[in-house]
Amino acid sequence: MNEKIQESAPIPLGEAQPRRSRQARVVWGSRVVTVGGSAPVRVQSMTNTDTVDVIGTAIQVKELALAGSEMVRITVNTPEAAAAVPHIREQLDRMQVDVPLVGDFHYNGHTLLSQHPACAEALSKYRINPGNVGKGDKRDRQFGMMIEAALRHDKPVRIGVNWGSLDQDLLARLMDENQQRARPWEARQVMYEALIQSALDSASHAVELGMDPAQVLISCKVSGVQDLVAVYQELAKRCDYPLHLGLTEAGMGTKGTVASAAALSVLLQQGIGDTIRVSLTPQPGEARTQEVVVATEILQALGLRTFVPSVTACPGCGRTTSTTFQELAKQIDDYLRASMPVWRARYPGVENLKVAVMGCIVNGPGESKHADIGISLPGTGEAPAAPVFIDGQKALTLRGEGIATEFQALVQQYIERRFGAGKAA
Ligand code: SF4
Repeated sequence: MNEKIQESAPIPLGEAQPRRSRQARVVWGSRVVTVGGSAPVRVQSMTNTDTVDVIGTAIQVKELALAGSEMVRITVNTPEAAAAVPHIREQLDRMQVDVPLVGDFHYNGHTLLSQHPACAEALSKYRINPGNVGKGDKRDRQFGMMIEAALRHDKPVRIGVNWGSLDQDLLARLMDENQQRARPWEARQVMYEALIQSALDSASHAVELGMDPAQVLISCKVSGVQDLVAVYQELAKRCDYPLHLGLTEAGMGTKGTVASAAALSVLLQQGIGDTIRVSLTPQPGEARTQEVVVATEILQALGLRTFVPSVTACPGCGRTTSTTFQELAKQIDDYLRASMPVWRARYPGVENLKVAVMGCIVNGPGESKHADIGISLPGTGEAPAAPVFIDGQKALTLRGEGIATEFQALVQQYIERRFGAGKAA
């Protein structure tokens, strides 16, 4: 019996494959965000304010940064927007928000970066879309002007290809070539190839012009999950540039969240992707920060990063007739998330905290014991008492109307004791 046990190999641990890209640096002041290589997968987001609105944009950038975005992209589409960028940067610096800003350029980036050096300097990275950098003989010249700006100001660039604005000349040429094949590819496969070639050719061009290959990032965004997976798997085989990952135009609410999680998870598990963005369309009244919440949750669910304490809650069932445990789970989750901007500095390591809020005795005590602090609420027919477990041991029992408030206070005390300045050894 013992021999058999020794012979059998253990089941491999569930974990993402290592990434294989070069490492880039995105810098603002003393803040250095490493991207790629052994760096953590970074979260990026994008504002939806008018960049000319300096205060409104700075406030949204701050909100996104506080939610966990480690780089924030802003549209730079007009001379007025370019002129506003250094003022947005100054406003952020005044608010002590050192998140790097990424400039999103289309059509006129060469002019804006050349004519607005303060904008070029205030940005920490430039996104260049090869599909709309210019047509015909203007293309190379205008692309070159953007790379010149990146070299002059020592900034990394992202070659950001998107199938909605794919280089149509390249696509037409590849379609023609495809017709010459004995067995022509499907149109979708030609489109994949066009996306990848557009990105890699532009990246090579940037390197020929003097860019350090480690300072060139790439993305090839599409809006279909299977298309994204296919394109990035191929892209990862063909280059070692850091890859920015995102399902473009993911959509709204549950659909956008699930589609993004499905696509990004497959690739991240395979070690593909160095920065991510979740391109959610905000629902009416929904905060822009929701896209950051989803991105951080994807990385946290995969065990790649920890951003906020996790709350384990059961789904509830016929054993729970009240919504008490749902309300408590939501209240604790909201409280932990809202407190994180302050806690990050005050309680180092607090993001690793695990809290459980469970609905009845079936899995409640067991799950609560696995958490750092957990509560098992009474289900139907159970005594109206809620045992609280701390570090795997039953610590006390809460009763009555104030269970939610009392449990929240216990969580706060636990955090202070374990992660505060005078934490227990
Ligand atoms: S812990 Fe209890 S209430 Fe929650 S899902 Fe399981 S059986 Fe239902």
